[in-house]
Amino acid sequence: MKTEIAVMTEEEPDIEAIEKAGEIIRNGGLVAFPTETVYGLGGDAKNAGSSRKIYAAKGRPSDNPLIVHIARMDDLYGITSEVTETAEKLAKELWPGPLTMILKKNDEIPSATTGGLDTVAVRFPSGRIAQELIKAAGGFIAAPSANLSGRPSTTRAAHVIHDMDGRIDMIIDGGDCKIGLESTIVDVTGDVPVILRPGFYSGSRIEEIIGKFSVDPVVKGEKTDGPPKAPGMKYRHYAPKAELILVEGPQNAVISKINELTAESIAKGVKAAVICSEETKDMYKNGLIYAMGSRNSEEEIAHSLFDVLRQTDDAGAEIIYSETFDTPLLGKAIMNRLFKAAGFNMIRLQEENTNDSTRM
Ligand code: AMP
Ligand code: MG
Repeated sequence: MKTEIAVMTEEEPDIEAIEKAGEIIRNGGLVAFPTETVYGLGGDAKNAGSSRKIYAAKGRPSDNPLIVHIARMDDLYGITSEVTETAEKLAKELWPGPLTMILKKNDEIPSATTGGLDTVAVRFPSGRIAQELIKAAGGFIAAPSANLSGRPSTTRAAHVIHDMDGRIDMIIDGGDCKIGLESTIVDVTGDVPVILRPGFYSGSRIEEIIGKFSVDPVVKGEKTDGPPKAPGMKYRHYAPKAELILVEGPQNAVISKINELTAESIAKGVKAAVICSEETKDMYKNGLIYAMGSRNSEEEIAHSLFDVLRQTDDAGAEIIYSETFDTPLLGKAIMNRLFKAAGFNMIRLQEENTNDSTRM
């Protein structure tokens, strides 16, 4: 399949190209497009065939539900059977924006779009290109992140072209995504919102609006007895090709441990890389060094995360040792992605000595 590429900016969307992209989606085709979080791989949310094509293009298991993107507040009512007060309050405060809400679906949305669940994930993105495209496509675009299944999400057009060229009808190149991390997913089917995936909006922001919230144990990597809320939560995500190991503890201990580990890997002929911050990058002695940004700028770190993971792939890294980034606001979201990319593989260094313990 020949993939058409349309280049534009958020400031000056190419309306003619967007109309064409909308028509492709209305006719059952697929278009990748930029949002404020990451690039999405869009198809008509009401067309089961389109959703099946999305799963095929990503190579994604079809029980991993898609997010339905809307561009008008009222459209929320067109695809759900019950909108709770909690949902309305959050929508009023945080939409358009990087919040996805899980609600009971109605018959307008086929179960092929929701991975067989009777709930639907809904998001109203804030970017202009995304909004114009959703309207041009008829109002409801089902879109997961526009990456091959299991791989780091795409935050720049070059990433999307790398993963999706030849697999979909069109890619809208709208430059780099502003946030660079996927939306916060909140289950609002009950009174207390439950965070299923941390994102740009933190738990405390949600608490400010609703007064309370809880976090699904799966987010923290805890095993649960019951079935997962979302089938997607059981898959390993965001993974670079290399094995990724997180190293946590006092800064100096982390630096010397990583220096020791990279030296060992290199001695064995294994191509090693380090993911760190601007502040510490000069302290690493071995391997490929990737600074994600300054610890004083969480947004910068969030913005570079997926790009850096993809750069390690391009460089052929075989093992990556990464610092942890439990920063105040976006830390939960950043660490959630890193934990999943690492398969929860972390070395914890103690305060007093550098004895390590590995947690799986
Ligand atoms: P992505 O494909 O990266 O955009 O992520 C979409 C994610 O949204 C899925 O992996 C699920 O975790 C989540 N999701 C979508 N629909 C639902 C739903 N009905 N219930 C719970 N989670 C959902
Ligand atoms: Mg994804």
